[in-house]
Amino acid sequence: MSGRLEIVQIPCLQDNYGYLIHAASAGLTAAVDTPDANAINDALKTRGWRLTHILNTHHHFDHTGGNMSLKGHWGCEVVGPAADDARIPGIDTTLADGDLFDFSGHDARVFDVPGHTRGHIAYYFAGDDVVFVGDTLFALGCGRLFEGTPAQMWTSLQKLLALPDETIVYCAHEYTEANARFALSVDPQNEALQSRAAKISEMRARGEPTVPTSIGLERRTNPFVRPESESLRRSLDMIDASNVEVFAEVRARKDRF
Ligand code: ZN
Ligand code: FE
Repeated sequence: MSGRLEIVQIPCLQDNYGYLIHAASAGLTAAVDTPDANAINDALKTRGWRLTHILNTHHHFDHTGGNMSLKGHWGCEVVGPAADDARIPGIDTTLADGDLFDFSGHDARVFDVPGHTRGHIAYYFAGDDVVFVGDTLFALGCGRLFEGTPAQMWTSLQKLLALPDETIVYCAHEYTEANARFALSVDPQNEALQSRAAKISEMRARGEPTVPTSIGLERRTNPFVRPESESLRRSLDMIDASNVEVFAEVRARKDRF
């Protein structure tokens, strides 16, 4: 690997983030999901980059809606989950759990993370300490279970939680402020969460993104990924429940919040 990847975060649509990953030495640039082809093209043009890849996380339109127009314009290679290839527009290359995708010497390790949709993958660039998680893990939240069970999603989240604390997590939506309100409702005694929530309000008031986050920060504050927490369990009255039961309860409460 030569040099670190350059990562550009692109606000798209209402609350999506698209990303560009650029490997300068090889002149490769990948878009992670394609919420808005125009916004992605603008970001490319500003930097004089050529789009060579699209790395899709899952099939939802706010993640693949720009695939065909970007592929038509750039002739780029579209990469996505093998488990959902039929629903990824223009897909050329399929990836599944444990696969390594070589991006100019920066290997992305692929995790199958079903739950939000049945075919959802995350891309972990270990050499750069970054992971692109789509709609699986959010800052203080996790994706809604449209096509999966709590047990599946919990298994998926555990794969991400096994990454080092310092891993930078790029999520696909700016949902953090609403997530913080919910998180405080289920884990009100968590001081790390309280101070993070205050910081988030300030950042949003200044119009700043609260994404990316990190695995360590989520471990300390995100109620979806800390079902072993005693303060959370006490507040839910679930002291003796299993982790997946606690996770399922937190997810169900968020759906009603
Ligand atoms: Zn989605
Ligand atoms: Fe989405």
